Parts: sequence; C-alpha cells; structure tokens
Amino acid sequence: MIRFENVVKAYPRTARPALDGVDLNIPQGQFAYLVGASGSGKSTVIRLLLREERVTSGRIQVAGRDLSRIRRREIPRLRRDLGVVFQDFRLLPDKTIYDNVAYVMHVLGTRPKQVREVVPATLELVGLSAMSRRLPHELSGGEQQRVAIARAVVKKPRLLLADEPTGNLDPGTSREIVRLLGRINESGTTVLMATHDDSIVNELRRRVIELDAGRVVRDEADGAYFAPRPQVDPAVAHSTSAEPPTATAESVNASPGDAQPVESTSRLGAQPGLDGGAAHQGAQRQATAARALIPRRDSAQPEPQAARAAGAATATEVGR
Ligand code: ADP
Ligand code: MG
Repeated sequence: MIRFENVVKAYPRTARPALDGVDLNIPQGQFAYLVGASGSGKSTVIRLLLREERVTSGRIQVAGRDLSRIRRREIPRLRRDLGVVFQDFRLLPDKTIYDNVAYVMHVLGTRPKQVREVVPATLELVGLSAMSRRLPHELSGGEQQRVAIARAVVKKPRLLLADEPTGNLDPGTSREIVRLLGRINESGTTVLMATHDDSIVNELRRRVIELDAGRVVRDEADGAYFAPRPQVDPAVAHSTSAEPPTATAESVNASPGDAQPVESTSRLGAQPGLDGGAAHQGAQRQATAARALIPRRDSAQPEPQAARAAGAATATEVGR
C-alpha cells in the first residue's frame, strides 16, 4: 500500500535532511505507528504521502502509484483514496457534526439519498449519533477528533493517515481514539498513525516504526514501549534487569493482559520507596514475552469491496 525506497527529503535552507534514506513497506490492511521525537520526520512522511511535499530523491508509491510521476491535476484523485486526521481536528466551525461529515460526500458528488444513509452510519461507527446536531465547539476534544475521523473515513479511503491524532487529548481519551482507529483498521483500511507519544503504542499492539533524525531506527511487527525506569536503588534496579526475558509456561497460557507480576517483581513492588512502577514494568515485560509466543491474528484483510467514492476533494482539502 505504501512503499518508500531510499527516500530523502531535504527542505530548502536546512542543515540536514528531514528524511535521510527511508525504506518502508506497509502492506494493504496493516496498522502501523510512526513514532519518534519531535522533529524526527514523522509529519514529513505524512506530507509526502499527501503530495503536499515532494521527495528530494528516492521513490514513494501509494497503492502502486509513483507519487513523483503523478501530475498536479491528478493529485485530487490520489487524495480521494486517503483519509487524513490531524492533531487540531480541523472541523468546519459553523457546520453541525452531521454537516461536517456530509460535506465531504457532497463535495465528492455523492447522491443525497446515499449521503443520508452513509453519514448516520459513520457517526454511529464513531459513537456520535446523539450529537449530530451540535456544533464542533459544543463537543469535547475527544469527540471532535471522532468527528474528524468520521469525516476522514466516510468516503471509505483505502488508507487513513493520522498525524498526532491524540496530541491534544488526555491519556484516557487518547486510548479511545487509538481503539477507534483499530476498529477502522479491522474493517480493511490501512492505518498509519504518527505520534510522539511512545506509550500510546501499548494500547493497541501493532507494528511500530521509529524515526530518529530522519532515519528508521526501529521497525517491530508488534512493538511495545517501556517507560524509562524509575530512579531506584542501583541494587534493586540490577535485580529488575536480571529478570529473564523468557516467558514461563504459566504466562504463555494466560490470556494477554492477564499476566501476573512474577514473584521477583512482586517483591520489588513491596519494598519501601518503590511505588510499584518497577513491578508494573516487570509485569509488562512478562506479558510482552508471553505475547511474543502467542500467534497474533493477522490484521491483513482483503480490500473492502465497497465502492470507492468518486469525485474530487479530500478531507484535507475541505478541512481547510
Ligand atoms: P515531526 O513531525 O517528527 O516532528 P517534521 O517532519 O515536522 O518532524 O520535521 C522534521 C525536520 O524537518 C525538522 O528538523 C523540521 O524542523 C524540518 N522541517 C519540517 N518542515 C519544514 C519546512 N517546511 N521547512 C524547513 N524545515 C522543515
Ligand atoms: Mg509532526
């Protein structure tokens, strides 16, 4: 679905390239996180995929199309197949929730009868049916982001790009948004979510691609994030790190999320001066080790046969 071949992107008048030899292959139906510190190049990847920027060298293909070869007038057609969600929602402030979502369909030239069917179904999908008559400012941040997601997926894009979609949200709401993106992925949409919030990847365990200064430094099929260790007595810290990385038979049989802290971490957690953070971390490691041994259902699914919306603009365009 997405293929980067030795992609270099150097913005004018900058000392080093924003992307420096990136190779990536994201198959249709996959959910991938793009993580990395601020400035590592995540938004540049998204902007290149939207053809808002062009590569300096290398090649990008989206659904078999070479982005450096498509002409300017073909860009709307490319974007029609992409849904995009941003940190700042970008809703139309004076339109109702319903109209924010319906507007995309009108722009695409969808028949009114179909709009009346698809918009309520999409609002239902994101859990906002009861709020369809409200204006964006009457919604919480998490609800506004769900509207933005509804708007991005109402045209049934093959690829959903999300650039820091949880950047303005509290941790609980962020987890809900990630779970919603996961459900959208399960219906067959490829999802690429850029985030600087490493810990969010634990909410839904999927592929994790990490950028550092424009280079891919990690690419794990089922990545996880471990919080930096709490500052503890070095002797205690040592015993934590000595914990074997292999899973016990017991933990392998436990269902994911069910893993119990192993004995050594329980003891650690009980020590004065430790708030249980180390114990939690140990338990997480154990769960991870266990999960690594449990075959995960392949998230790749056949492409949905739903008719691709035909017409013009994308959520990006109408959101501006
Ligand atoms: P991230 O989204 O991971 O924070 P970006 O892709 O926005 O990273 O930025 C990567 C690097 O490219 C940074 O060093 C940033 O300053 C630089 N950069 C991004 N956009 C531009 C631009 N339009 N002009 C010049 N430099 C830019
Ligand atoms: Mg960014």
